[in-house]
Amino acid sequence: MIVFENVEKRFGDHVVLRDLDFTVAPGEFVTLIGPSGSGKTTILRLLMTLERVNAGRIHVGGECLTHMPKGDREVPANEKHLRRMRKRIGMVFQQFNLFPNMDVLQNVTEAPVRALGLSKQDAEARAVELLELVGLGDKVREHPSRLSGGQQQRVAIARALAMRPEVLLLDEVTSALDPELVAGVLKVLKDIATTTDITFLCVTHEMQFARDVSDRVLMFDRGQVIEDAPPEKLFTDPDHERTREFLHAVL
Ligand code: ATP
Repeated sequence: MIVFENVEKRFGDHVVLRDLDFTVAPGEFVTLIGPSGSGKTTILRLLMTLERVNAGRIHVGGECLTHMPKGDREVPANEKHLRRMRKRIGMVFQQFNLFPNMDVLQNVTEAPVRALGLSKQDAEARAVELLELVGLGDKVREHPSRLSGGQQQRVAIARALAMRPEVLLLDEVTSALDPELVAGVLKVLKDIATTTDITFLCVTHEMQFARDVSDRVLMFDRGQVIEDAPPEKLFTDPDHERTREFLHAVL
């Protein structure tokens, strides 16, 4: 579960997110759409703790991410709190960022062994299961450079899942792929979304995918949610003129 509560984020004088409120329920798949510069990536970066809020609170899985209790008051989260919370959140980026010097299996087992303290044997058993799930059961000993972009992105998805995240953030996961590889990656994500209880927050320009897989779509403009609706409503009969214009431009 993800809750943004009155979140403000500024870069200097530039207010990117203002008084932002939204909730993603446990197990829900929510997609953020909106014009370039409207603040979508900033939301994911706040959840990854790569940025700090200027005001407001963010909660993940029932616990505050941005603040922690100290005596009888709340203070901004320290590094230790952030590190613990970060383990509950996975992310798949546009760039796959696999470790080039490791084979596929090592890419997927590295973090669970290091950060979760799993034994190598347990981490490998789980990694093989996940690689089969993403259709790469026959590639465990390959190096990333020998895989297509779509296959590398599926390794990145398996690697994120290996950390057993409660929340998975997807940031334009298909934008760096050749068009014919996009469908395979999106199918894997759809399968995962429909068969696990992971909560998804997705930023994408793939409107067909957003429509196909999301429980809700949030239309963003200038740092605020201007429309929040199930995809069949938002894509066919939006309430807001700005949503209509945006969809007209991108569809
Ligand atoms: P896109 O669809 O193009 O990826 P977006 O909706 O994800 O856009 P963000 O990347 O969140 O938008 O950026 C929102 C605004 O914040 C932009 O005006 C951007 O220039 C600004 N911004 C983002 N990061 C920084 C930063 N580190 N320093 C200054 N300004 C930033």
